[in-house]
This record gives sequence, structure tokens and C-alpha cells, in this order.
Amino acid sequence: MKFQGTMNINAKEHLEIGGCDTVELAQQFGTPLYIYDEAKLRKTCQEYYNSFVGKYGNAMVLYASKAFLTTAICRIMEQEGLGLDVVSGGELYTVLRAEFPTERVYFHGNNKTYEELRMALQNDVGRIVVDNFYELELIDSLARELQCIPEILLRITPGVEAHTHEYIKTGQIDSKFGFTLSNGQAMEAIKAAKEKHVAVRGVHCHIGSQIFELDSYVHAVDIMMNFLFDIKRQTGLAIEELNLGGGFGIYYSEGDEPASVEEYADLVMGRVYEKADEYHLLRPRVLVEPGRSIIGPAGSTLYTIGSVKEIPNVRKYVAVDGGMTDNIRPALYQAKYEAIIANKANQDRNDTVSITGKCCESGDMLAWDTKLPEAEAGDLLLMPATGAYGYTMASNYNRLTKPGAILVKDGEAQLILKPETYEDLIRNDVMPDELSKKQPVRLKSIG
Ligand SMILES: *Cc1c(COP(=O)(O)O)cnc(C)c1O
Repeated sequence: MKFQGTMNINAKEHLEIGGCDTVELAQQFGTPLYIYDEAKLRKTCQEYYNSFVGKYGNAMVLYASKAFLTTAICRIMEQEGLGLDVVSGGELYTVLRAEFPTERVYFHGNNKTYEELRMALQNDVGRIVVDNFYELELIDSLARELQCIPEILLRITPGVEAHTHEYIKTGQIDSKFGFTLSNGQAMEAIKAAKEKHVAVRGVHCHIGSQIFELDSYVHAVDIMMNFLFDIKRQTGLAIEELNLGGGFGIYYSEGDEPASVEEYADLVMGRVYEKADEYHLLRPRVLVEPGRSIIGPAGSTLYTIGSVKEIPNVRKYVAVDGGMTDNIRPALYQAKYEAIIANKANQDRNDTVSITGKCCESGDMLAWDTKLPEAEAGDLLLMPATGAYGYTMASNYNRLTKPGAILVKDGEAQLILKPETYEDLIRNDVMPDELSKKQPVRLKSIG
């Protein structure tokens, strides 16, 4: 297993993150628990900021908040100089409640509702990333009603096939997202938008997620810059902003080899400038929207091990007190993770086990055939790199409560998300009047 950020092993042979002993964290906060390494998180934000904005100036980094968002995370992103990409009224609400500067918010989504768009415009979000013709009409009528001129980007489907899991590819032609480039729909959208009550500031594409081949980005830049050239030629419009989406891959398990953020930045920025000069275009402001690569490696999940079931010559199941409810990625995308026993951090990992959750599903697995030291009930299992798309995709299946989250730094732990309680689970349950009085129950006698 690869140690990331501030992880290390202390004198008690316990795993430490941010100077906090994970065994003590389990006692203090309970398990399962999402642990965020604040130093690691800020360091990655700074890498992004310095590599794009620091070095090239006319650029901006938007954190894709769907990866993990709480009001405290909004505040950290604000302090680190990042913008935010949101995709729903709920994410926008969180951002507003955190008093994040709305001019740095980009609103995405393939089916934004009238109410969501209204909320965005009334709160002066920086840009609306328009996904389709239906949305263009909605914005046009809202803009007239609210007497504003929304600044928009148009989301384009560039026809790039990124090498990643089927469910997280988004740039290919057969996609629910965006205006298709290859059949002329994207150009039609630009022309239509020019006639609407909006200001077209730029274009956007997002080719997928957990991408390691930087070539896919270069390919996307080429296609988009060529499109900018066509727009200029056909409509006279000079596009100011090119948003290249997110998707930069991270290390989850052996074989994952991400490039550095700086390499990514240099490659993309270099190519954009090269193409702009070649086509005699204005060098556009470049935006990127990393989600996973900012928050993923900074987060880990701490569990308590319960049952260990060995089926001789078949498999050893190590069960933890969470599972697909707090991390659905292995079940949904066959995602692979590594793990460590936090209270036996120095022991050799020579037992092959499969880590399962406590839900009533055989697919409720966190890792197949991974290496651990001998696991026993009461041990603590830590799974690194779960910071992205863990909590945000969490569910209450089997009425499990969602775990809380903490930030750790310099030996201190702070709660940023309370763990749910049983009371939270029934908060929205309603007992209709006619059921509210207990009636004698008529049961047929059985047997
Ligand atoms: C999901 C998404 C991102 C972030 O993707 P990551 O793989 O987490 O970096 C960025 N932009 C858009 C439009 C997205 O849908």
C-alpha cells in the first residue's frame, strides 16, 4: 500500500494521519469515519493553483464539488483561490451557505430545472454551462424575466474516447451530455445562443474521469481549438474561455500511475497556446475542473473489523462496519482499493482476503483478494484514497447511518460533518393519521 500525504506509523505501530493516531480517532469519533488530511488537501490545491494560475496567469481552477462538498470544504477552496463547479440546487445551496464568492461558481448539469437556474441567476453565479437547447430556451426566458444577461459557456461533446470505465466516460458521441460537435449541433447552438438574451463567454468539454493518458487531453484541446477557429470564421465570435473539464486520475491501487499536475498543466496550456497562435486566435482563458484528484487522495475511510469468515481453499471474507453505503465505487465501477490494518500498521501483509461490508448484497464488496496482516475482530481497517465520491454517493441502504467526516492536521482533529444518528433516519418518516393509533392486529394463527 502506498502511504499518501501525512500518513506514517507511530511508536505504537499505529497508523497516523495529520499527526493523529487513527486508533484514538476511532475511539473519539467512532467508525466508519471519513478522515481528511488537511495538509495534503491544501497542498494539492496549491499544486493546481501554481501550475495553472501561478505559471500561466490567464487560467482558473474550479474544484468539482460533486466529489465531496461540505461548507468547510467550500471555505478551504475559497482560501486556496479555487472556484467551484456545482451541478445542482443542493450543491449551490451549500456553496451559498458557506458564503463562497458566487462569481467563482460555474453551474453544470444536463437537466437543470427552471427553479435551479433561477436560483443560480438570482445569486449571480459566475457562469452557467448550458448543456442543451431546452436549457438555452429556459435561460433566455429567465434572463428576460429577471432582466439580467447570464454569462454562459456551452458544453460540447468533442467525440473523444477516454480510456476509462464505461460509466465515467463522457466525451464520446453517444453521451447524454452536451451539444454534439461532429454533426454540427454544437455550431448550431453557438449561433442560437448569439440570438438569445445571454453573453456567450466560452465553451466547455469534459471527457471523463480517472484518466491517466494525457494524450486524451491533448486530443480534446486540438478538437476544441479547431472548434474555436470555426466559430470565429463562421460567426465572428471570439471565444474567451476554454473549460477543459476534470478527470485527472489518481492512485488507488498498484498499476495506477498518474502524471504530476504540473506536467498536465504544461501539456494542456502549451497546446492551447500553440493552437491559438497557429489559428491566429486570442489565447483563451483556460479552466480545469479537477474533483477526484483534489479531494480523493486526501481522504481515507476508517472501519472496525467484525466477522472474519474463512471458506477453506475458497476465500477469506473480512467484514467491516460500513460498505457499499459509504463507498459504492467497487460495486459500481469495479474500482480497486488497497487497505491497511491501522492498529497493526507495521505487520507484514501476507494474508490474502476480500473485504466486505455489512449490507444485504453479495456485491457489497470493498476489495477483492487484497493483502492484509492477520485480521481479527476489533481491528481497525483503513482504506486510503476514498476522499472522492465516497460520501457524496453514500446511501442509507439497510438504514445504515452515513458516517461523519473529520479534518486532521498537526495532531488535531475537527469535525466537518456529523455522523448521522438513528433519529436522522426517521426524520422524514410520516405516520398517516389513520395509522397513528395502534389498532389490535388480527393475525391468522400460524401452523
Ligand atoms: C465530474 C466532473 C468533473 C470532475 O471530474 P473528476 O474526475 O472528479 O476530476 C469536472 N467537470 C465536470 C463537468 C464533471 O461532470
